[in-house]
This record gives sequence, C-alpha cells and structure tokens, in this order.
Amino acid sequence: MNSFLNQAQSNREQLIAWRRDFHQHPELAFAEHRSAKIIAETLEEMGLSVQTAIAETGVVGTLKGGRLGPTLLIRFDMDALPIVEETGAAYASRQEGVMHACGHDGHMAIGLGVAQILNSKSQELPGTIVFIFQPAEEGQGGAERMIAEGILDDLGASRSLGLHIWNEKPLHWLGIAPGPVMAGSERFDIMIHGRGGHGASPHLARDPILAASQLVTACQSITSRSLDPLESGVVSFTVVQAGETWNVIPSSVRLEGTIRTFSEASRLIIIERMKEISIGICSAAGCQVELEFERITPQLVNDADTTALAAEVAQQLFPEFEIDHEHRVMGSEDMAFFMQEVPGCYLFIGSSNSARNLDAPHHNPLFDFDEKVLPIAAGLVAAVAWRLQEKES
Ligand SMILES: [Zn+2]
Ligand SMILES: [Zn+2]
Repeated sequence: MNSFLNQAQSNREQLIAWRRDFHQHPELAFAEHRSAKIIAETLEEMGLSVQTAIAETGVVGTLKGGRLGPTLLIRFDMDALPIVEETGAAYASRQEGVMHACGHDGHMAIGLGVAQILNSKSQELPGTIVFIFQPAEEGQGGAERMIAEGILDDLGASRSLGLHIWNEKPLHWLGIAPGPVMAGSERFDIMIHGRGGHGASPHLARDPILAASQLVTACQSITSRSLDPLESGVVSFTVVQAGETWNVIPSSVRLEGTIRTFSEASRLIIIERMKEISIGICSAAGCQVELEFERITPQLVNDADTTALAAEVAQQLFPEFEIDHEHRVMGSEDMAFFMQEVPGCYLFIGSSNSARNLDAPHHNPLFDFDEKVLPIAAGLVAAVAWRLQEKES
C-alpha cells in the first residue's frame, strides 16, 4: 500500500505543476476546452485509450489492467466559478472573473496523478479503471449530461470513487462515512397571486405580501415539527420579489429557495408540507398560489462495503490522520448521479492550513489550499482503487 503513497510523493512536483497550470487557466461550465485538451493528451501519452467531447468537454480515459477483474469508475470534476480571484498567489487566475475557487484544479491534477500511478503498475492491475473527467459540476448538470450521452451504457462498472479536497478541514483529516454524505438538493419557486391596490385601502386588496410573510415563517416549522427530529433537513428562502413603490399593494409575490435532505422520505415530507402550508395560508388570505419544485441532485449515498474498504486503506496508509467516519455536509454534488447507477464511495480530504492562511472557504475569492493534499489524495485514491480491484477480481 505504501508504494502508492511513495510514488505519489515522488510525483509531487508534477502534481503541483499540473494544478498551478489548471489554476492559472480556469474555465467555466461546459467550456473546459483547454483543461480537457491537456487531460486527454496526458492520458494518451500514458497509453490510455481516450474519448473526448462528451457533454461538450468531458474526457474519459480507460486503463486496461494486465489481469482479469472488474471495472471501476473514478470521477474528477473540471469547472471553475465566475469569481474574481483575490489570493494574490503567483499562480493566480489569468482569466479575469473566472477562478478555481472550489478546488477542481486540484481534482484534475489528482486525477492525472492517480492515472500515472495505476498506469505504472498496469501489468499487475486487475480489471479496468475508467477515469471520468466531468465538466460543469457547479449546478450546471455535467454528470447528468455525460450519463445521458451514454458513458455508463456499456461500461459494466461495478464500483465508483469520487473525492473532494475539503478546506473546511485541515490537512491530515479525512471524511470517509457510509450512507448519505451529501444532501439532495431541490429548487422551489412559489408564485402568490393576490389583488393589488392602494396602500391606504388594504381591505379592497388581497395582499400577497402578508401571505408570503406568513408562508415563509410557517415553512420554518416543517423541519422542526414535521420531520423526525433525528432526521436533518433545510428549507431556505433565498429570493423574495414583490412591489415597486411605497403606497401600492402589489398583485403578486415570487419566492424562491432550496430544500436539502439526506433521504427520499424527508424530501417528500418537506415538499408535501410546503404545498399544504402554501395553499392553506394563501387561501386564507384570499390569494392563489402556484408551486414548482425542481430536483437539482439526489442525495449522495456512500455504499457501505466500498466505504469500509476505503476507510481501512486510509487507516493503513495514514495511521496518524484523523478519520471522521460520520462526516456529512448539506451541500450537494452531482457525483450523486453516477453513484445512483454505480455504487461507490465519495471521500473528503482535508486541505486547509491556517498557519499558511490557506483556509478560506470554498467559493470564496481568497480560496486556496495546501498543495500537500495533492500527493495525499492521489496516493489514497490509487491505493483504494487497487484494493477494490484486487478484492473483486
Ligand atoms: Zn463548488
Ligand atoms: Zn467542488
């Protein structure tokens, strides 16, 4: 197992060079052309068979091992965010208004690093490893589109792995937990139609603002009164739009927001209660209401066996690390679409270092991580992949 880590450590300079190059040239969702080209060329040079232009910029590299065995899918995301970088780093973004502020530059470098390590042992490798470099993770549907374009169809993958470097936690911390580890995410849109009128004559109007205010407040009772107290859920209203001026009651209000849950049952309870509350309150206020729910991603659920194996490998590789076996976050991640089809494990790898001021949160203009995480992640993912292939072959 340690040979994977040693190899990752000796590739450290290369990992950092890849990461800094991707960081300087960030690209937004479905426009990751330069990144995709570098990834495809690098994988081809290694001798992998490579498919490109899947979901615009997605790249799939296939590494066939010299021994018989199952097929493992490992997924890395590639997109940056529309953020003006403020880190002042020597390797800061050269693309005005675009920044790798989530760490996907690191993920691409780690992906190439894992491919390099496993490729160097390809003769003894059981089965096939499929490296998926996915565009547009940040809410734009890259995973769904790659699946819709058929990448899983004839793959026969039996397991999957994914990861996120995690700046909320320091280096030498790992989050490897079974079950739901990232929330399912839903967008909702609520239109309340009342009757507009003079601000001085509310009795002649049907005030949608009063209905909206009561609705927003009442929906906060869902997670506290309708969900099992041992379950988690979020109902956040993030948009309230109504009115133009001080003396006019508007005729409508638009509300928007998000629901996060870790189980399908909780999701359905929240949606049902939101409908009942909205219809009840609006009807009492003499208003009409329309509700729309749009599922963004399902819950990301780690398979128990794959996760136990990943945790065991991590423990052997990094006996001095803190491993959190219950780590979960309310954020969402479209790796969930792959993992609905192919059971697997999604790992969180601590990457911050406050002594070096590398601890800004994800999606922040000051986001940067300690590059020591690159060999840690590449060594870990390569070792877990190998162990999975050996176990199932
Ligand atoms: Zn992100
Ligand atoms: Zn991310």
